[in-house]
Amino acid sequence: MVRPSLRVSKTRLVRTPSETRLKKISKRTKKPHCSQCGAILHGVAFGSQNKVRKMSRSEHLPSRQHAGHLCSRCLKSAIKADVRS
Ligand SMILES: [Zn+2]
Repeated sequence: MVRPSLRVSKTRLVRTPSETRLKKISKRTKKPHCSQCGAILHGVAFGSQNKVRKMSRSEHLPSRQHAGHLCSRCLKSAIKADVRS
């Protein structure tokens, strides 16, 4: 059984011109989901960490409350519940 930390990464053998072989590790990433309903979040960057790190903060997250955690529908209902209570 593969270690849980290694189940995400993929290793490949790559041939270089000098016939040496190198292992490349590419990690699969999932799209970000809402923590309440599980819907896919729009406007949130995903992919390799190198790509996401190079983006500015405004490029990889919407600039509203609970961005990256709740979808717009769940946020709307949460704000309504806060105001009404
Ligand atoms: Zn939601």
